[in-house]
Amino acid sequence: MALLNEYFLEFPSGNLFSDIEREINTFKVIRPNAAPIDMGINDVTIPLPSSIVEAMHKAVDDMSESSTFHGYGPEQGYEFLRDAIIKNDFNTRGIHLTPNEVFINDGVKSEVGNIGDILCADNTIGVVGPIYPIYIESNVISGRAGVFSRGKWSNVSYLACNESNGFTPMPPDTPIDIVYLCSPCNPTGAAYSKGQLKKWVDYALKNNTLILFDASYEAYIQSPDIPHSIYEIRGAKKVAIELRSFSRTAGFTGLRCGYTIIPKELAVQTMEGKRVQINSLWRRRQSVRSNGVSYVTQCAAAATYSQEGQRQLGETREYYMDNVRLMRRTLSQLNLKIYGGEHVPYLWIKTPKGTSSWEFFESMLYRAKVICTPGIVFGPGGEGYVRISAFANRKDCTDAAARIKEWLEIK
Ligand code: PLP
Repeated sequence: MALLNEYFLEFPSGNLFSDIEREINTFKVIRPNAAPIDMGINDVTIPLPSSIVEAMHKAVDDMSESSTFHGYGPEQGYEFLRDAIIKNDFNTRGIHLTPNEVFINDGVKSEVGNIGDILCADNTIGVVGPIYPIYIESNVISGRAGVFSRGKWSNVSYLACNESNGFTPMPPDTPIDIVYLCSPCNPTGAAYSKGQLKKWVDYALKNNTLILFDASYEAYIQSPDIPHSIYEIRGAKKVAIELRSFSRTAGFTGLRCGYTIIPKELAVQTMEGKRVQINSLWRRRQSVRSNGVSYVTQCAAAATYSQEGQRQLGETREYYMDNVRLMRRTLSQLNLKIYGGEHVPYLWIKTPKGTSSWEFFESMLYRAKVICTPGIVFGPGGEGYVRISAFANRKDCTDAAARIKEWLEIK
């Protein structure tokens, strides 16, 4: 008899993302000529730059010749890409890694769940809330999140993340086994300073905590004081896995490529208290469960590090950051508390007068004809806020900001 993984049944029956879609579709039916502007966009919108497209075309041509054809690639990723990552993303920041510590994958979303394969189901988990919902949902499937009651999972520690701590919570007094940190953070835009990250690393060293550090948005960091990698902090290689993605850095949301750093020094404890280095275990896991990422995609990822690739992608990221700055300028003329927009192209806006995030989302849709994301979809800590994404075209950003301004001024 085949038995179900019953942890799947723990998911609450409603799904807020489908509720949002339903609400928007209803609006479009009721107001067919309204043309709402979508600033809830959870994707990039600018196409890949020419240097990367050319690299892909060349890689496709390679596949047509027997002398350059590539079949199954190394599970860990081609060395040309791993070398480029180490040289450009880490050596430039004084971090030394070997190619064996870099694992190419199809993006952070799947990797967040995959990592759970080598971690015991009994671990406690901690998240700063609001956060990227996948950190918790991937743990629901493996039974680590517990049961859902009153908007929270029973085995999850939600580290309060609010205006008073600048949306960058510090370690709690009690030990947690696995902690998810995202810096700069989706949705709040908050980024940890070196001093703050050091406190997390020290906490992890003291408590044998594993930190899963999501640096998907690091390329948007605007200040030299904000670390791009957790390994800029001494001791972090012993306690942290870093996850990176080409999705936001280089517009690969549709191509799918990311990478994970598992340092050789990183060890996790067995029930008997033995410390086991997990780098080689993860290689074993990949050899069992993965045949790697396509050659064409990895050539595209390597092209992001070429001089022209860097220049073109820098322009794309600057375009999104200019979008968010101009939205912020317009919206700051209103009586609103606005966060984010400094190191990510997202604005995190406090809803006025204690309005719930869902009500504010609905009002913005119906009154301003602008779609945002209600903060509650990022967990209970997101209640009372909405997120506006500037991963959009310039005109939509300008028009959306003008519409919101007009709506709130006459409200
Ligand atoms: N991590 C964070 C914080 C994100 O916001 C997102 C996407 O929205 C991802 C990871 C997804 O990355 P990928 O496209 O590599 O799966």
